[in-house]
Amino acid sequence: MIAVLKRGVTSEQKDNLCNWFESMGLSVNISEGDYHTIIGLIGDTSKVDIELLEGLSIIESVKRISEPYKKANRKFHEDPTIVDVSGVKIGGGNFQIIAGPCSVESEEQCLSIATSVRASGATLLRGGAFKPRTSPYDFQGLHAQGLQLLEEAKAKTGLPIVSEIMNINDIELFQNVDLIQVGARNMQNFDLLRELGKLNKPILLKRGLANTLKELLMSAEYIMAGGNENVILCERGIRTFETYTRNTLDLSAVPALHELTHLPVVVDPSHASGISRFVERMAMAAAAAGADGLMIEVHNDPEHALCDGAQSVTPAQFDRIAQKVRKILDAAND
Ligand code: PEP
Ligand code: MN
Repeated sequence: MIAVLKRGVTSEQKDNLCNWFESMGLSVNISEGDYHTIIGLIGDTSKVDIELLEGLSIIESVKRISEPYKKANRKFHEDPTIVDVSGVKIGGGNFQIIAGPCSVESEEQCLSIATSVRASGATLLRGGAFKPRTSPYDFQGLHAQGLQLLEEAKAKTGLPIVSEIMNINDIELFQNVDLIQVGARNMQNFDLLRELGKLNKPILLKRGLANTLKELLMSAEYIMAGGNENVILCERGIRTFETYTRNTLDLSAVPALHELTHLPVVVDPSHASGISRFVERMAMAAAAAGADGLMIEVHNDPEHALCDGAQSVTPAQFDRIAQKVRKILDAAND
C-alpha cells in the first residue's frame, strides 16, 4: 500500500503518521519526490483502514499495490533511482558503459583492455574472476587472483570495477569490488541475494536465462528487502526457440522495466547475441530503447580468449561502438 502526502506536510506530521503505521507492525519506506512524498507500507496492510487514512487532512491519496514486489515498484518511488558506483552515477539520465573481458586472464590482458576501453569512454571496468561455465572442464576464472588483477587495473586507470560473485562464502573477497554482479544463473539463488541485501554496495542483477520480468523484480526485491536498495537490473537476452543467436535480446524489457520499477536498467548485447559482429547494432538499439547503460565484453585477442571470445569485440571495435552509441543518445535527447 502507498500513501501519497499533500504538499506542505511538516516533518512532525510525517513522523506521527509513520509512528502510527509502525505501531501496526508495518515497515515504512519514504520516497521524497520532486512533487510528492510517498510513504510505502510493507507488511500486512489488512489492518489499515483505508477510509480512515484517506480522510486525514495530510493525505492526498491511498492505493493498494497489487504487485508482490514493493520496494522495487515504481509506484513506491516515482523518480528513477540513481545508483552511485564509487562516484559513477547510473540511472535517471546518467548513461554509463561497462566494458572489459569476460574473464580476467592475466595482468597484461586486464590492464591493456582497461586502458583502451577507458580511452574510448567506458566508465566501469568489468572482468570475471569466478566464471559460471556450462562445462566443468572449461576455464573457471582466476578467482582471488583475478580480483586482485582487477584492483590493480582500477588503481592504474581509476575505473571502478565490476565482477561476478557465485558463492556466498566469497563475499569477503569482493570488498574492493565496486559493483557486484549476480549472473543469470544465480538470479534466483535466494540465499545469495539475501546476503547481498545486507551489504552497502551496489549490485548488478542479471536476468535469468528463462525468467520473466516479474521474477527479475522479485529477485531485486530480495536484495532490497535486506536494506540494500542499490540494485541495477541487466537484460542479457533470454532463451527462445531461436538458435542462430546465443540468446534473444528482449529489448522491450527496457521500457517495460522502466514502467514497472524505478531501478536503472542496463543491457548486455554481448551475451544477448553471442556474436561480436552484432554487438554494435544491438548496443545502439539498446541505447535507443532507453537503457541506462550497456555492458560489453571486450578482448584484446578475441580468438584466443579463454571465455566468450566469439562475442567479444576488440578495443578498436569497442571504440566505434561507443561513438555510435553516443550519437544515438544525442539523437534521442534532441
Ligand atoms: C558474464 O557476464 O560474463 C556472464 C557470465 O553473464 P550471464 O550471467 O549473463 O551469462
Ligand atoms: Mn561472458
